[in-house]
Amino acid sequence: MIRKLLRRVFSRGKPDAASQPPHEPALIPVERHGIRREAISPGALKTVTRMQEAGFKAFVVGGAVRDLLAGITPKDYDIATNATPDEVRNLFRRSRIIGRRFQIVHVMSGPETLEVSTFRAGSGEEGATKDEHGRILRDNIFGSQQEDAGRRDFTVNALYYDPATETIVDFHHGVADLQQKTLRMIGDPRARYREDPVRMLRAARLSAKLGLTLDPACKAPIREMAVLLENVPVARLFDEMLKLLLSGHAVACLKQLRDEGLHHGLLPLLDVILEQPMGERFVWLSLANTDERVRAGKPVSPGFLFATLLWHEVLATWEARKKEGDASIPALFEAMNEVLDTQAEKLAITRRIASDIKDIWLLQPRFDANTGKRPLRVLEQPRFRAGYDFLLLRAESGEVPMALAHWWTSFMEADPEERMVLLQPESPGTKKPRRRRRKPSGSEAAPEEAGNLRAESGE
Ligand code: ATP
Ligand code: MG
Repeated sequence: MIRKLLRRVFSRGKPDAASQPPHEPALIPVERHGIRREAISPGALKTVTRMQEAGFKAFVVGGAVRDLLAGITPKDYDIATNATPDEVRNLFRRSRIIGRRFQIVHVMSGPETLEVSTFRAGSGEEGATKDEHGRILRDNIFGSQQEDAGRRDFTVNALYYDPATETIVDFHHGVADLQQKTLRMIGDPRARYREDPVRMLRAARLSAKLGLTLDPACKAPIREMAVLLENVPVARLFDEMLKLLLSGHAVACLKQLRDEGLHHGLLPLLDVILEQPMGERFVWLSLANTDERVRAGKPVSPGFLFATLLWHEVLATWEARKKEGDASIPALFEAMNEVLDTQAEKLAITRRIASDIKDIWLLQPRFDANTGKRPLRVLEQPRFRAGYDFLLLRAESGEVPMALAHWWTSFMEADPEERMVLLQPESPGTKKPRRRRRKPSGSEAAPEEAGNLRAESGE
């Protein structure tokens, strides 16, 4: 009896008993947070309303509420409910249940896909299977809304918005933290990082994206716990890296990772990016360029991004091979494979992405020729546009002469007759290009059209 009582008292005192917060949630009215129901996407509004009309609890939750409060347009909407996946599925004709480990429902509404998940009990002792480092392998038990809030990572991510009343349900003072620009972990940060080390990367990414300061308790253990990331499955790390790099804040995120000591020896790709002596300018330029595209709502392909991040590794390996006496193009093939193989050990670069990357790299030596018939064939390559954008970055970083990039801009924009003139060896265009319509320098280097850069981040 006494032991039971003691256990209860102690477990209440433990900070990671956050899944059972002592207080009732704060109900924050629209006058205080300012999010009108029209601010959420039509699909999210329709889906939540439909579920509520059917008698269930339903809220917009997580990143979307946080972003709206911070004045950022959410990129997608998550919905949390007390309905089971089957009940949700039965409500919406255009919906499907996904996930084996923990089922969620994708509800299609117009062009949107809403992710609907049932309230889940989280990191508590029961129901969660952990590995020998304490990393949660499974936590697939339905729970109350309060438990659902407690298993989320940061206070600003545990906000529930009810469009019917325009109220925010706030279990962990997330609204106040956001107003004070603080990223705070729910519960004991050490315990929460142990359960899921990816939260360290999320801390870096979200603080950079939202301009939040990491709460000292949240920041302090990261350096020492960073090694736990080694136990995280490769595919999950890759997803997180992709999110980070395509967040529109890649430059800020990577600086934050470096500051937190999260980059070293963990992900070879990060080592490459942040510790590359000669390609540093090229890499930061490419990340800044990606950020700009993402923020302008333009598509970015992971293949293009990784091609830029790994390029100077390829260049160095290529050079070494040529010095050993290999012919140029076979040496390039070997260098490409070597660099991609090294990365593939840690990162799950899909075959499709790897083939995009190679296409872009292989086009680069072909840009060197700007006379004769060869440039016309280059122009016909399916990945020409991506290869050309890549060339612009190389020129901007000083790796190849700007005049070469200018020549290709003129050549690409010229009509067939003009092209023939440009291809003459004595053509003024081969040396001094005519005025371009688009400047491949400075911030305008980002290509205007999507071209070959299709949105493929969903891979
Ligand atoms: P964004 O979509 O902008 O990248 P997000 O916070 O919405 O950020 P998601 O991966 O979409 O990130 O996750 C949705 C929500 O699920 C989060 O807001 C958070 O409440 C919860 N969540 C996500 N990952 C974790 C995690 N590793 N641990 C605990 N909760 C998490
Ligand atoms: Mg999200």
